[in-house]
Amino acid sequence: MLTSHDADAFPGLLTRDGARWHYLDSAATAQKPNAVIDAVTRALGPDYATVHRGLYARSADMTMAYEAARRQVAALIGGAEHELVFTRGATEAINLVAQSWAVANLKPGDRILLSMLEHHSNIVPWQLIRATTGAVIDVCPLTQDGQIDLDAAQAMLTPAHKLVAFSHVSNVLGGVLDVARAVALAHGVGAKILIDGCQAVARVPVDVAAMGCDFYVFSAHKLYGPTGIGALWARGDLLDAMPPWQGGGSMIDRVTFAETTWAPAPQRFEAGTPAIAEAIGFGVAADWVRGKGLAAIHAHESALVAQAREALGRLNAVRLYGPAASAGIVSFTIDGVHPHDLGTILDEENVAIRAGHHCAQPLMAHLNVPATARASFALYSDQTDIAALVRGIERTLRIFA
Ligand code: PMP
Repeated sequence: MLTSHDADAFPGLLTRDGARWHYLDSAATAQKPNAVIDAVTRALGPDYATVHRGLYARSADMTMAYEAARRQVAALIGGAEHELVFTRGATEAINLVAQSWAVANLKPGDRILLSMLEHHSNIVPWQLIRATTGAVIDVCPLTQDGQIDLDAAQAMLTPAHKLVAFSHVSNVLGGVLDVARAVALAHGVGAKILIDGCQAVARVPVDVAAMGCDFYVFSAHKLYGPTGIGALWARGDLLDAMPPWQGGGSMIDRVTFAETTWAPAPQRFEAGTPAIAEAIGFGVAADWVRGKGLAAIHAHESALVAQAREALGRLNAVRLYGPAASAGIVSFTIDGVHPHDLGTILDEENVAIRAGHHCAQPLMAHLNVPATARASFALYSDQTDIAALVRGIERTLRIFA
């Protein structure tokens, strides 16, 4: 059993030769603390067995651990465990809502309101739904500083709108949605609201009960947990009424060739052998983040954003995007330097940023840029990372001068 080292250490933050890696790509995926790595290692090793099937003690223990993970993850967002479905990630969670709830509830002429800053995974599933149901997609514009313009949303929403799907925190610009107001606007016209919490859940306190949303989705890997697992939280009455979207083992009550009946939610939406070790790692990550406190993480990342924006703003060639009060994410471009070239030069300095369209091509078109560079922070980021970023940008500017 691996228990000897610091549960809060992040082995991924070192380069291969043992130097500090200035990892500024946590919005893509977060590095993992030993607490999570050890939990997954144990789950795949001495504790390993299947869940929900075996009659032997190891499988019963594993089933308890898997269901405990569901409780841990639900607790992080203030939800009930029977309302939490494990999925492969946020992308699959949105596709689940689309293929189950939307197919059952939308008809030609119904409308879906998205925003200009959505990630492709909160656009494309709705385009597939548009093709199958005849629903229409509307796009809410952004404010000058790159936040979803809720005044515009208010003016656009009509009783024909059946769904609003917005990001809680933009993966490109870092703006934080006023979820309570968005929920009130959606419910005001009788629409349901899905919140893409992929970037939010690791950066700002989330309480689905207090926010009053209908669906909330996120991935474990941005929350210091494993890849291959994520969650859909849905209001119990909605989830209970939703038909299954994938069939197979575990999601049934009784199968005959004439007819099959379904298991209750959330099992109805978890066909097949689940990602057992990943779920357990997800639960440990959720508990670990709860222990650190999301208010404290948010304060830490907000201070880093302020420092980074200040330091980058002093460089004449740098153009900053998004609101000043961004949650852990800073997007920028440099006059005369393609973001990919910047990313390559920074890599030589042990600084990792993301450069590209960030799976938000409509937003790039709106900003009128092919790509941006993005530095994103996590609980383990600090001022030395920002200093290394600035040094790397200054070197890049000298190379391109
Ligand atoms: N939404 C947002 C805002 C994201 O940042 C991401 C990941 N970049 C996703 C959805 C999709 O998450 P995943 O790829 O883990 O399913």
